[in-house]
Amino acid sequence: MKGRDFNDRPACSYKTMPFPTEVTCPQCGAEIEIWSDEEETHCRLCGYVVFNHERYIN
Ligand SMILES: [Zn+2]
Repeated sequence: MKGRDFNDRPACSYKTMPFPTEVTCPQCGAEIEIWSDEEETHCRLCGYVVFNHERYIN
């Protein structure tokens, strides 16, 4: 009963801290901020769905 899983976490969670990335909407050209822990986000201007993995294409 020691809760070891939680105690072993700090160093690891620091590495995986989410960070924002700016991507350009392929549909309207607006700048969209997507966080590294988000799988997808919506363009606030046209509603286009941008997937996180798509940012590697451009
Ligand atoms: Zn857009």
